[in-house]
Amino acid sequence: MASPDPRPNLLGLTREEMAAALAPLGEPTYRARQLWDAIHLRLVLDFAAMTELSRPLRAALAERFRITLPAVADRHASRDGTTKYLFRLEDGATIEAVDIPDRHRRTLCISSQAGCALACRFCVTGYWGAGRNLTPAEIVGQVWAIRTLAAIEGRLNLVFMGMGEPLLNLDAVRSALAVMAPTISPRRITLSTAGLVPGLDELARWPERPHLAVSLHAPDDRRRSELMPVNRTYPLAELLAALRRFPLEPRRRHTFEYLLIAGFNDADGDASALAALLGGLRAKVNLIPFNPDPVLPAEWQPPAPERVAAFRSRLERHGLTATIRKRRGDDVNAACGQLRAFGRAARGFRRSQLSF
Ligand code: SAH
Repeated sequence: MASPDPRPNLLGLTREEMAAALAPLGEPTYRARQLWDAIHLRLVLDFAAMTELSRPLRAALAERFRITLPAVADRHASRDGTTKYLFRLEDGATIEAVDIPDRHRRTLCISSQAGCALACRFCVTGYWGAGRNLTPAEIVGQVWAIRTLAAIEGRLNLVFMGMGEPLLNLDAVRSALAVMAPTISPRRITLSTAGLVPGLDELARWPERPHLAVSLHAPDDRRRSELMPVNRTYPLAELLAALRRFPLEPRRRHTFEYLLIAGFNDADGDASALAALLGGLRAKVNLIPFNPDPVLPAEWQPPAPERVAAFRSRLERHGLTATIRKRRGDDVNAACGQLRAFGRAARGFRRSQLSF
């Protein structure tokens, strides 16, 4: 592979960082702002097209910097309007992101890592194993690439529910959020986490925090540890204590994601135990019927829709707000837990076993 381009990728720089990067060029400070606006407000990603800048400045910029989006290796549109993107990064790592239009809003589901080390047993990304942290430019790049390709003009919601654990890459996530803040408010951004207590405590100290979704999936440590090895390090009592001390703005609630697996964690008693566990927390529950995949345990299946509905009503009877996550992008393997890294890990597997 060609050696990576050493020029810094401007896509990952905040306004302040861009001003600092441009300082050695001796230009007035408003130039950095013009450049930032061109990239982030007008999505002009080619120096040559920034005609508000002088020709010599455009040449000087192109010599020292670049503006590179992740390459689109594949794109699959689902019948329901969801589009899954496979991006190839400069080192050959691949990540996925999903564009999910709904009637009233548009949500991009993006990745924070190429792969995931947490090895949750129900998750295809975890099955393929650890990869690496994404850089701020790679995180912003997923969003900007989809905004450009899908010609998105309106407001966007972002969920870090693609590949990886955002709390294991908090520095880059924080920088990416700072870069996107003028165009996508942190209030419209959700970090979904498997529940890493040190990351939660660090996030609690941010002056402006995104919304939090916590993958819970079981009402007791025995079953949660079986599903999620991370629970052995941060068991439920510690996780819930971290959430109780987490500063929550007025009228906001934590979201808890709860995977429903038939016969494993979907009994009425489990709903009551879940409600008891969340007692005293401002919480809402998002129920996710398990999405099967050939690499996941074959004995696991989603419950019948009536059971999902019964679980939800039981939670509501205990005073909790509960929603059922719609399956989106199912026909192109873009549904939750179906995002996988390709490249090295995938070699040796038949193509038909993969999602492309
Ligand atoms: N690491 C983060 C974000 C990635 S997973 C986290 O753990 O939350 C995003 C969501 O998809 C999580 O709630 C996860 O539990 C869910 N998910 C993973 N595999 C799934 C599957 N096979 N079926 C349904 N949801 C799944």
